[in-house]
Amino acid sequence: MLSTMPDFPLTITSLLRLAEGQFSDREVVTYIGDGYRRQPYAELARDAARLAHALRGLGIDGDQRVATFMWNSAEHLAAYLAVPSMGAVLHTLNIRLFPEQLVYIANHAEDQVVIVDASLVPLLRPLLDDMKTVKHVIVVGEAELDGAYDYRELLDQAPDTFDWPELDERAAAAMCYTSGTTGNPKGVVYSHRSAYLHSMSVCTANAMGLSSADRVLPIVPMFHANAWGLPYASFMAGASLVMPGRFLQAEHLTRVIAEEKVTVSGAVPTIWGDILRYARQHEDVDLSSLRLVPCGGSAVPESLMRALQEEYGVRVVHAWGMTETSPLATIAHGDSWELRVTQGRLLAGVEGRIVGDGDRVLPNDDVAVGELEVRGPWVTGAYYLDEDPLKFNDGWLRTGDVGRLSAHGFVTLTDRAKDVIKSGGEWISSVELENALMGHPAVVEAAVIGVSDERWGERPLACVVIEGTADAAELREFLADRVPRWQLPERWSFIEAVPKTSVGKFAKRELRDMHARGELQIITL
Ligand code: ADP
Repeated sequence: MLSTMPDFPLTITSLLRLAEGQFSDREVVTYIGDGYRRQPYAELARDAARLAHALRGLGIDGDQRVATFMWNSAEHLAAYLAVPSMGAVLHTLNIRLFPEQLVYIANHAEDQVVIVDASLVPLLRPLLDDMKTVKHVIVVGEAELDGAYDYRELLDQAPDTFDWPELDERAAAAMCYTSGTTGNPKGVVYSHRSAYLHSMSVCTANAMGLSSADRVLPIVPMFHANAWGLPYASFMAGASLVMPGRFLQAEHLTRVIAEEKVTVSGAVPTIWGDILRYARQHEDVDLSSLRLVPCGGSAVPESLMRALQEEYGVRVVHAWGMTETSPLATIAHGDSWELRVTQGRLLAGVEGRIVGDGDRVLPNDDVAVGELEVRGPWVTGAYYLDEDPLKFNDGWLRTGDVGRLSAHGFVTLTDRAKDVIKSGGEWISSVELENALMGHPAVVEAAVIGVSDERWGERPLACVVIEGTADAAELREFLADRVPRWQLPERWSFIEAVPKTSVGKFAKRELRDMHARGELQIITL
């Protein structure tokens, strides 16, 4: 028999209604470097309506793609609400990608309108001729760009209510491109339903437990996997949003956290590392309002989590996800550090399994190591107009991450498949070595890559950034207490900084290329 319940559509429009209705008194605060701009959600919702009218006027009347090229701000949030709710598709462009990749992505998605922050116009301007489908550009703030519209002028002419259409929850709402396994970036298209369910999950206590008492600071860019779902989840919970704009340095972030009494803030480990170093150098830093810091994007060193907790009372909670998984898939709550250093427990809704050679499913015994595969209502089942058959396995997403799964659903990742080091037939976890090294007081950053070795096939090369003094022998000695002896690197390279990807992760491929070109000076012990 069928249920008596309706298929009530789960849409971003309903989040917009919450913002304009019951949470209309919550606020979005945008930091502008020397102060703040404030808007209650009621006004943000009116701006969303005005933006929808403006976009309609520019020919957006269906599921066309509207791109953003923006920092985290109230205007970006208005686009997050307006574009999907009017039935169009929001495409968040990663401002830090290479020009060729940006052009490829905008053409592939067939973006028609780009909304750009004035400070980013110099980056976008040279690409526009090659973005073949872009018809209109809207500039937020003051900048010279031929033929572009001024955001405020457009909105000021528009009515502040909009007749939001009834939407199919399965319709595309937003899209984001990610690296995939090979070739060009791959598009992931989120539906209204997937965004809604992901937000509900983020709001549960097993995840971030957001409520209307929270003030959420998404430091993670809104083009990096939907700012980890923080904006939509905040609208659902009625949490206020504090947006850092383009001020992503520790000096600004610590100020915003203290002045705006931020309770929840998400960013990659590199940013929290910067914040920790800054706080240690400046006595007046106050991080006491933070109740929860979800952190991921790459493995979070235990030393970083412990330092923030013990010195500043900040609870960093390790989480794992991908653009393909909306992104939140696991989060590591637990009483013991043993659990907290794992990537976390699979959220209800996301299923996982570990797969070994020949696609054999391995036991969830926290011992067997293989590739993690996941599936669920907010895990993509394909890429947009692109094949990557290697990524999908009978309804499961092959994550490209290698690790193990416990009977209680905790995932521990030891590496990315492309980063694993195989030495004498045994796997060495580069992540474990890096985390152990970053526990040394003089080590600012450490990245370990596999290099070929006549005897063992491959051996680890430790590339470290040092502040103060420590030589390779000392670091090796430090590691000796923490990892098995046969894993200790004999090759060391002291570098100025680990190269980073567009979202602030260690770019190990670049390190491997540098090594291949002979650019790394190596000390052998
Ligand atoms: P990209 O592939 O361009 O880095 P994503 O941002 O989607 O794009 O990255 C997802 C990947 O980031 C995961 O597959 C995983 O390798 C890595 N990652 C994310 N969170 C963690 C974490 N907590 N620990 C280790 N790796 C992580």
